[in-house]
Amino acid sequence: MTALIEHGPQSVVPAVRRFLSGRKQLLIGGEWADAASGRTFGTEDPATGRELAQVAHGEAADVDRAVRAARRAFDEGPWPHMKPNGRERLLWRIGDILSERAEEFGQLEALDNGKSVGIATAVDVAWAADVFRYYAGWATKIEGSTVNVSMPFAPGGQFHAYTLREPVGVCGLIVPWNFPILMAAWKLAPALAAGNTVILKPAEQTPLSALLLGEVFTEAGFPPGVVNIVTGFGDAGAALSGHDAVDKIAFTGSTEVGKKIVDAAKGNLKKVSLELGGKSPNIVFADADLEAAVPGSLNAWLFNHGQCCVAGTRMYVEDTIFDEFTAAVAEAASKVRIGPGMDPATELGPLISQEQFDKVTGYLRDGLADGARALSGGGRWGESGYFVEPTVLVDVQPDFSVVREEIFGPVVAALPFNADEGVVAAANDSIYGLAAGIWTKDVSKAHRTARQVKAGSVWVNQYNGFDTAMPFGGYKQSGWGRELGAGALDLYTTTKSVNIAL
Ligand code: NAP
Ligand code: MG
Repeated sequence: MTALIEHGPQSVVPAVRRFLSGRKQLLIGGEWADAASGRTFGTEDPATGRELAQVAHGEAADVDRAVRAARRAFDEGPWPHMKPNGRERLLWRIGDILSERAEEFGQLEALDNGKSVGIATAVDVAWAADVFRYYAGWATKIEGSTVNVSMPFAPGGQFHAYTLREPVGVCGLIVPWNFPILMAAWKLAPALAAGNTVILKPAEQTPLSALLLGEVFTEAGFPPGVVNIVTGFGDAGAALSGHDAVDKIAFTGSTEVGKKIVDAAKGNLKKVSLELGGKSPNIVFADADLEAAVPGSLNAWLFNHGQCCVAGTRMYVEDTIFDEFTAAVAEAASKVRIGPGMDPATELGPLISQEQFDKVTGYLRDGLADGARALSGGGRWGESGYFVEPTVLVDVQPDFSVVREEIFGPVVAALPFNADEGVVAAANDSIYGLAAGIWTKDVSKAHRTARQVKAGSVWVNQYNGFDTAMPFGGYKQSGWGRELGAGALDLYTTTKSVNIAL
């Protein structure tokens, strides 16, 4: 526990101490249980590399138990048969509890992930609460339609035809470590609103907030088996993706694992939705409001320490302002306060793990060896923890790995473009298509470019312009399907056509 206090002025609230000192088991069929093997694994604080807690090490046998519990809760009820306003009330309650206990959830997320406690509380937890309330509202508004059929093969008949929107069934929800509770909420809330039962598999690096959320589901009165949680490693995710009694997988993570999930899902042709990687362009035209574009473009690649699927890590700047603009972004980057997430003054925390630290610093070494020049940063920050300096790279070529590949750290590659030659072809030259930023005062140019860019989300004169009501997802290898908004309900419902001869 002393390791927690070393983090600085913000003390850990008693509820977090209680949670950390308690046993971390799997949630299966409404009961907390050890892994069948009895094994556990450690989760660490990335600011210190020290262990925070031991967590049940779920494997295929545990996934199987959880799937069977979810199956029972779906097939025998009461969840899919509960009145929609019953599901609404329970989901709303989750939103309220998250708001009431935001500090506790925020601290736990900051400790397990390394992100700043202020952001964890105000963004991750507050937004997760909003997501639960938004989909609570949808539970009573999922509707089919009546269809005026012509029935050319039965010219004399009269018919009453309509559609029903039904839950898909048992859904496996596999989430990454960069926004643990938020990514869980994006999937849990629409899945549950539509009447599905679920198995949540958090990332091995950040299992804690999911387990605390499991306590909240139980406390709120969710029936046993509706929400099951299995902590573990990639093999647990693979067992879930390949399980024949699972009807759907919703996944957020790397493109590489997304492809493995598609393969694993083939056996029973379960439905799959995927939110994958990105290498998003952030385009700055010379006529942009530079006072907004400099901090906005910094936020585009630095938010969450660059560990964002949407990170705007290819910064295309019009050549007439390139030197001035990149120097201003580099200067702002070098002033960012780096430290442990639990220090409220921290703006940039550590990366999640030694593995990610090695990956990001490896990309930096490769980029510099290829001929890139760092206007700020360029390597490790401090002596301990997985901290990387915010780094602006210039003198890069389109074929450099720092321009083509997802780095997932606080690194941006800046490339100049010429107004006559345009920037869209370069911006679209990627296997990914998740997001894009555009900075200009010219309204027509903004709309024109927004149409031309192949990306699921386009943000003009801002970056990370998310909203619960706006669909989010990727073009190309950034994924399948759209989360958030009313459209996410399509991922978790299936349509039945009913046609009655009158
Ligand atoms: P990842 O392996 O894709 O992890 C995402 C989730 O999938 C985790 O819960 C993971 O479990 C699980 N998983 C791993 N192998 C699986 C399999 N074969 N079948 C089913 N589920 C499986 O991502 P990562 O290894 O943590 O990060 C690697 C890279 O992915 C990063 O450097 C970054 O480039 C990218 N990434 C992207 C996002 C995004 O939001 N698009 C998020 C995170 C990472 P374990 O945690 O136990 O491995
Ligand atoms: Mg951790």
